[in-house]
Amino acid sequence: MAVNKEAFQAISNELKIKGVTLVAVSKTKPASDILELYELGQRDFGENYVQELVDKAAQLPGDIRWHFIGHLQSNKVKFIAPFVHLVHGVDSLKLLQEINKQALKQAKRIDCLLQVYIAGEETKFGLDEQELEEIIVYLQKDQPLNNIRIRGMMGMASFSDNPKLVNAEFHQLKSLFDKYKPISAPVFHLDTLSMGMSGDYRMAVEQGSNMVRIGSLLFGERTRPV
Ligand SMILES: *Cc1c(COP(=O)(O)O)cnc(C)c1O
Repeated sequence: MAVNKEAFQAISNELKIKGVTLVAVSKTKPASDILELYELGQRDFGENYVQELVDKAAQLPGDIRWHFIGHLQSNKVKFIAPFVHLVHGVDSLKLLQEINKQALKQAKRIDCLLQVYIAGEETKFGLDEQELEEIIVYLQKDQPLNNIRIRGMMGMASFSDNPKLVNAEFHQLKSLFDKYKPISAPVFHLDTLSMGMSGDYRMAVEQGSNMVRIGSLLFGERTRPV
């Protein structure tokens, strides 16, 4: 049940050398576990549920960078807009518009990643390549959303023990990222590719990820399903 500090040190050092940002995924885990890694220097934490994130952020140090990595509903954006550091799972223009609206109210800019569907599994959220293209074209043309910034893309590979499949999925997302990276419009600043979790982060990094989201290797298995 306890936080695995040795694993944290090892993974954290391994990623630092490679210039990869570690987001410690603390969903379902208590604030005290987060504090243990905070005291070892970790500042980026990821959460999947709005209420849980709001509760934890209120109890924990103000210099934590909170990443929202779950499926965000439009009507809940307002609760995290005041403090969220990066929203990973943006999968519709409607959601982007709501994030923009709430960011405007806070007189700030909110950084977002577009979630792309790369896995063969049907349950995954995310944009397909055409939907991604449509959103990007829209944002380039009209630039109506001055309070968001697209920092890159996020994706999840299949839960598979076939490394070829997983590598191919990560490679696909890296190619999309590279395709859009050169875009220069005020709303775009593409420098972040969020891919890789406990089971596949090394493959993700090999394929060009520069941000990984790791939960169970650091905090132990989750008892509550997610
Ligand atoms: C839960 C979760 C993770 C972390 O998963 P682990 O396998 O525990 O490392 C990463 N990304 C997303 C989107 C998640 O929901």
